[in-house]
Amino acid sequence: MATFLRFFGLAAAALPLFALSGCGAAPDSTGEDAVAEAGDELIAGKVQIVVSVDWEGRELAATNLDAMKAFRSANPTVPLVQFLNAAYYFKPGADAAATSVKIASVLKPSDELGLHIHGWKRLFEASGVAFRTTPTFWGTPVLEDSCSFDCGHEVPISAYNTGELQSVIRTSNATLRANGFAIGKSFRAGGWMATTSVREALTAEGFTVDSSAANVALLSDELVGLPVLGWLKNLWGSVQSTSQPYAIATRSGSLKEIPDNGALADYATSAEMVTVFQAHKARLKLSPTKNTVMSIGFHQETAKTYLPRVTSAILRIKQIAAAENIRVVFVTTAAVK
Ligand SMILES: [Zn+2]
Repeated sequence: MATFLRFFGLAAAALPLFALSGCGAAPDSTGEDAVAEAGDELIAGKVQIVVSVDWEGRELAATNLDAMKAFRSANPTVPLVQFLNAAYYFKPGADAAATSVKIASVLKPSDELGLHIHGWKRLFEASGVAFRTTPTFWGTPVLEDSCSFDCGHEVPISAYNTGELQSVIRTSNATLRANGFAIGKSFRAGGWMATTSVREALTAEGFTVDSSAANVALLSDELVGLPVLGWLKNLWGSVQSTSQPYAIATRSGSLKEIPDNGALADYATSAEMVTVFQAHKARLKLSPTKNTVMSIGFHQETAKTYLPRVTSAILRIKQIAAAENIRVVFVTTAAVK
């Protein structure tokens, strides 16, 4: 089924470079890549673009990592928000050192390291949580005989309670940190399913930023008829292309929600991303002193197929920005202001 090919919010040695505190960005980095500076300052605000990567926890194939390396070479100053996944370390026979080298091969010091979690059986069991086979994004339960290697990617983490999720978050954080990746304070839920229990677990574990609020309109074509589309409409139905960061209160504190208003490349074409940018440009022209925040991204596991959409969108956005004297900066979530 084509749906499975779209990794839905879909699928060493010491690494001191990334064992940084805080958000994971290098201390000397602003996390910004200025593209165009307005000459006359009539438009004092700027379009801040967050480019994120969801690591599904399924596999680390050379073909996708190579695509990411090519992107990084072509866009040397675009920081990426890397929503990393600890599930790779719990696959049968996983070589932790080799896994870390592969992940680190596509990271840069200016990146932000955040956390991404899907309902993988081995990760949840390693966290002391009983695995659930249902519900799933697609409406069909996980078949136990498909679990010999690992399974559960399609089980929304919202199926678990706050305490269970805290255990998985702690295990994920500890595992990634132990392998050289200092996860900061930002998070995206697998399948964008950051329901109340997920958000409470996040704040209880010290996270301050979530970027799961999806622009459902961009997902509807691909997910039509599947249970997850209804869930996402209920959860994020008011999110649109120019929705801006906002605070969500939880019992353990407040989360800064940065909407994924341009979605991810498995769902949004290059043209759709540019259309989202045009909406932000229009917003900026209406309120010239206010920054506007736009989010686009892709999945590591489908980078070879879909990352070219991001590449061409960025190229076109830079052209438009230069032609119309619009200030565009590429930022991490920690640098959004
Ligand atoms: Zn995902």
